[in-house]
Amino acid sequence: MPVRPPSVDPSTSIDRHTPVMQQYLRCKAQYPEAIVFFRLGDFYEMFFEDAERASRMLSLTLTSRGKDRQGDNIPMAGVPHHAAASYITKLLHLGQQVALCEQMADPSSVKGVVPREVVRVITPGLVLEESSLDARAHNYFVAISKSAQGFGLAVLEMSTAELYVGELRSGAEVLGELGRLQPQEILLQADSLADEVAEALRTMLPTCVLQRAQGDSGDAHAQNMIAEWLNRESSTMTQDDLGEAGQRAMRLALRYVADHHISTLHAKFRLQRYDVSAHLGLDMAAVRNLELTATLGGERVGSLLALLDKTCSSMGARLLRRDVLAPMTDAALIRRRHDAIEALMIDGTLRKGVRDAMVRLPDLERLLTRIESGMANPRDLASLREGLRTTRKIDGLLQGEDHAPARDVLPAIALERDELWVLERLERMLVEDPPLAVGSGDIIAQGAHGRVDELRSLSSSSKDVLLALEQAERTGTGIHSLRVKYTRAFGYYIEISRAKLTHVPAHYRRKQTLVGSERFTTEELDALQAEILTADEQLHAIEEELFARLRMEIALRAMGIRKLAAALAALDVSACWAELSLQNDYVRPTMDDTNELELKGSRHPVIEALGAAGSFVPNDIDLGAKSQGMAMITGPNMAGKSTIMRQVALSVIMAQSGGYVAATSARIGIVDRIFTRIGASDNVSRGESTFMVEMRETAALLRGATSKSLVLLDEIGRGTSTYDGLAIAWAVADHLAEHTRCRVLFATHYHELCKLAEHRPSRVKNYNVIVREHQGKMVFLHQLAEGAASQSYGIAVAELAGIPASVLAQAKHRLSELERPSALPRRSSKSSGEPEVNGLKRAHDSELEELRDALLKRDLDRTSPMEALIWLQEIRNRIERG
Ligand code: ADP
Repeated sequence: MPVRPPSVDPSTSIDRHTPVMQQYLRCKAQYPEAIVFFRLGDFYEMFFEDAERASRMLSLTLTSRGKDRQGDNIPMAGVPHHAAASYITKLLHLGQQVALCEQMADPSSVKGVVPREVVRVITPGLVLEESSLDARAHNYFVAISKSAQGFGLAVLEMSTAELYVGELRSGAEVLGELGRLQPQEILLQADSLADEVAEALRTMLPTCVLQRAQGDSGDAHAQNMIAEWLNRESSTMTQDDLGEAGQRAMRLALRYVADHHISTLHAKFRLQRYDVSAHLGLDMAAVRNLELTATLGGERVGSLLALLDKTCSSMGARLLRRDVLAPMTDAALIRRRHDAIEALMIDGTLRKGVRDAMVRLPDLERLLTRIESGMANPRDLASLREGLRTTRKIDGLLQGEDHAPARDVLPAIALERDELWVLERLERMLVEDPPLAVGSGDIIAQGAHGRVDELRSLSSSSKDVLLALEQAERTGTGIHSLRVKYTRAFGYYIEISRAKLTHVPAHYRRKQTLVGSERFTTEELDALQAEILTADEQLHAIEEELFARLRMEIALRAMGIRKLAAALAALDVSACWAELSLQNDYVRPTMDDTNELELKGSRHPVIEALGAAGSFVPNDIDLGAKSQGMAMITGPNMAGKSTIMRQVALSVIMAQSGGYVAATSARIGIVDRIFTRIGASDNVSRGESTFMVEMRETAALLRGATSKSLVLLDEIGRGTSTYDGLAIAWAVADHLAEHTRCRVLFATHYHELCKLAEHRPSRVKNYNVIVREHQGKMVFLHQLAEGAASQSYGIAVAELAGIPASVLAQAKHRLSELERPSALPRRSSKSSGEPEVNGLKRAHDSELEELRDALLKRDLDRTSPMEALIWLQEIRNRIERG
């Protein structure tokens, strides 16, 4: 959650301070919302309230930097500049922004106050530093706007330089997309929108930072940038593709980026359309309930992604994660991905070779962004070289004669002219193992540049001369402990210990006196020093310049390398699926555009992997249009109802992610959206009753589901009394079966719902998860069988759970009483499909008769859930009035 921005006390008048502090205060005034890291020599210092907050958040010692002119202490806390990255990461994770205020000139060359400027503001959504990013997940910044037609969405992935822009129809759709994007930071257009969705976002994405856009989004500069973008040759998009709201969101995003001083970067983003229909709809509830990226307890281990992620590179890991959270809906595209997996399963040598090589692949996508934004260091360029070498090696493998069949279905990763140029250039220019930082040389390879070689030999030969001088002075003075040394502040000097001072010749000039020794220089040493320092200085300056030029030349050729990176990520993901499918016996699903969903020998991939080998009981399930679309599943608690529902949904997600499924055979007609209504969600914290939440979710799915959707309903209608609950469950099931006609898995304890199969035999089929009683104990077989469960075994499960024997005995007695026919007010006619209510005797018989008539008269096909609810409320009021 965003925390109140740190600020400087406004009463702090600027002229009370020293010139440096005045400079600080001016920077801070520009970025009141950020913690300002103010560079002072080798430290980043924070002052005033920033210092107090940062010292608490980062466990830093709070000191003070003198006093202001009125004698008040100035709180200060600092971090060494070389270790700043880890502190920045921590602050970003706490939802803070960090403004980096750098020295704009070398302090030794400036008289008076060194000029300083804020060069960047790092926010959780705008991060480029590898150390602050999760290598295996994207880091999204999302701007949202609103227009009369709908919502605009601009999704920015700064570190990989991607920008997606699109429009969505409803607030619910926006929340759904945000649920799967799981952004780090969201910028909301500052009007009613902010209030409308901010509240929901806070509950849904508690760690995401929310920002409100300042000012008008009709920024002319940003609009020009968009036009320029669309006019580019490579762009295939028009203004219409982006839509009015989409463009507004994009303007908001670009303005925000520019305000954070990363304005040079945007031009390189790859602009793509955010197309909701290209992906299987999964909202936050589905992502959570199906434990796609984390378990309900928030752990990664135990999630689907943790099981699937056997990728070798971080680019592959991110692509797989994106695939799982946004599976495809185009059968042809999916089949192409399956072709690649199949080829890599068959061609074991290639698979192994590719995977072994991939381990060495650096994060090319993020490297390129740092190169393009001028932030890459010499070691980053060495990584790029390693990446290109690895790519060439993998391409070499692919080109092998034996691998022709696989080659045809795998992405091409051959280095083209630009990439070859970059590789050749890096091989020639860069030393094999360069330092992290520029400025101290050793970057440019020997033989790459005449002047560098010349200065290097000059520098190293003067060092030889220096050694010779040391030797000569020792001999001349007879002081064997005499040393020629160097420090930055003093330059070169001759050090002589106190004991030998009497031997010092007259032409030695004293430079400094220390406790145990004295430092001298000579004319000869001074001359040598000048020569060495100039050579080194020149050398470093030239190396720095050559390095910057090299980085820029590579940046100009980034596009081709980015394409390669995307192909490599896809290859990694295909090889990962191939390996996984061989290890775990997954099968290639047949994909088409029908409404079939037929799984044979289906398993829950995660439970199967976590359990002992062979302990998972496979099941068959058919929700095809030809058979019945709705499976009504009964069975006691713990039988495995929710497991089978989840495994069907996971199979669809795996298949449409472009992968194989945990089954012996699978046929899947493309699903457009998965709805889950499983268990009570945590919205109770918003003050809504569980039943209200359940009804809200049910209403959303009844409105949103199409004939292509997959709906999982677990225990609907349990949050109210038996009658209401059953009536609602019945009406909802019937609506989905007959009107929506989508694929549904409906798990229930209401055995009465099994009558729906008689009522709608072509649409609903009963299943039950088999339980056997053995010597009075229950045995869960986890086997799905056709037909309704004969009883609910509630008391047996209660016994398993350790309910005391006396309570159990009373429950059994009460049950037998309730199940006596006389206890049940019911009519003889059962053919019309009305639910039989095995409930508590809680109203007068005559009243029940009346209700029964009313219910039977009612045309459920034409009753909306809302009408049903209102009607139920009326009935309840009547009952309550007695
Ligand atoms: P229900 O929803 O009917 O209460 P669950 O689906 O939660 O039951 O399953 C209960 C337990 O049984 C879980 O621990 C699950 O791991 C295990 N289980 C479910 N289905 C199977 C199966 N097909 N094979 C083996 N174990 C299973």
